[in-house]
Amino acid sequence: MHPVRRANGRKREVMTALPHSPNLRHLRRQARDLQRATGSTLHESQRELAETYGFRSWAELKHHVDELSQAALLCARHTGTPNREMDALRGVVDPATLVVGLRHPNPRVRFDCLGLLDHLADDSCLVPMIEATTDPVPRVRRMAVHALGCRRCKPEMLCDDLMDVFEPIALGDPAWRVRGEAVISIFQQPPTRRRHEALEHIAGHDPDARVRRWASQLLARKPPGTFTT
Ligand SMILES: [Zn+2]
Repeated sequence: MHPVRRANGRKREVMTALPHSPNLRHLRRQARDLQRATGSTLHESQRELAETYGFRSWAELKHHVDELSQAALLCARHTGTPNREMDALRGVVDPATLVVGLRHPNPRVRFDCLGLLDHLADDSCLVPMIEATTDPVPRVRRMAVHALGCRRCKPEMLCDDLMDVFEPIALGDPAWRVRGEAVISIFQQPPTRRRHEALEHIAGHDPDARVRRWASQLLARKPPGTFTT
């Protein structure tokens, strides 16, 4: 979200995050409270409140909250679907709604949307899923890395080569579980010299013994010399 410029030209610097379960009833009540406190019209109070949350208008905030609710609903309905039944959800669950859920203030919803995108994503989801690898919450980042790299859960990969995404995460994410997931995703990349060298480096240098061990074990699974470039 970007700071919005107010009618008087001053930039509002303080941005409030939406609550974990944003709903219109609560926001309408907030606007009425603001109206009582300031003596302005309801319309003005709604716009003022929308700006506080980083939106240009009440209608824009309302639309965003509606979309977030749809994403949360979709997750609640389909998270936990057994893998063998996921195929049936293709064409039924709109991946675009799951992508909207990646901006939900509740990390649980972001995590669940990525869990479903692991099975249901199409090409249009690639960029938002890559952005989710920088989520502030480690388990959400880990699921983003899994959903991008996992071959088992989807009929075909979203992108043939994501080494530019996975390598910096494997080398620099502060959470060892996220680095470990990136190691697994690197292993599932096409067998190139770069992939092999990245795993070798991690096996020798990661600060966490568990990540080093995973990289070593994965290296042992494919003998050197199988890389193609
Ligand atoms: Zn998977």
